[in-house]
Amino acid sequence: MHSVFIEELDAQTYAEHLARPGATIIIPAGATEQHGPHMPLGVDAMLSRTIAGAVAEKTGALVAPALCYGYKSQPRSGGGNHRAGTVSLGGCSLSQMVEDVVGSFIAQGFDNVVVLNGHFENYQFIYEGLDNAVARTRNPGAAARAMLLSYWDFVDEETLSKVFPDGFLGWDIEHGGILETSLMLLLHPALVKMDRVVDHPPAKLTPYDIFPEDPSRTPDSGCLSSAKGATAERGRLLFETVTSQVADALKNELLLGGMPLEAN
Ligand code: ZN
Ligand code: MN
Repeated sequence: MHSVFIEELDAQTYAEHLARPGATIIIPAGATEQHGPHMPLGVDAMLSRTIAGAVAEKTGALVAPALCYGYKSQPRSGGGNHRAGTVSLGGCSLSQMVEDVVGSFIAQGFDNVVVLNGHFENYQFIYEGLDNAVARTRNPGAAARAMLLSYWDFVDEETLSKVFPDGFLGWDIEHGGILETSLMLLLHPALVKMDRVVDHPPAKLTPYDIFPEDPSRTPDSGCLSSAKGATAERGRLLFETVTSQVADALKNELLLGGMPLEAN
């Protein structure tokens, strides 16, 4: 069986996939961003890439190399861009990168391009790049479709109530919290140090931003909520819900063709 990750494919295998009707590529998007003392800087890209790989196996898609820099981390969703370890792009750079990469995949002949986002702050800038790439290539001969999603938006109420039995306070404060830590415990356990989790109440967020940022507004841990309740079992619930729901959305919205990588 071929890898679904194109960086592991030779050009001929890639071209064979591309030539099939309904050829689909998923681009994972993440960030380089501190995730507290217990997790690595690459969490957002690692999770979106692994989720994209599982979705690709369910849909016959391929996965592009992840976008490993994201839009500026913000205090109300990622701890803030001032934190050590957080290295970001400006909005124009991110939008332009997405436009260029998506435009290249469409020009190569992919029928469908999906960006699977794993960093909260990225969304609107990816939207801009995708919209421009599709508009630019819109012509009678090319009918490429694109989709944009953030994986946490596919967690349903039932899963939420199991993963957050004490109540769910919103995705924005899940930076370095139970969602990401549980998924990392399932998918990349060697990179998580649960003995270093700082147990503190959820960050108190103001309904506004200030400039320049006041670092004292971010909890010292760099996380916006505690990962204390994170477990690999919770990660399993999240992963299975997200991958099956995202795969269903792709099947509903895109003409995927067959299952080119492996008949099933
Ligand atoms: Zn994250
Ligand atoms: Mn992030």
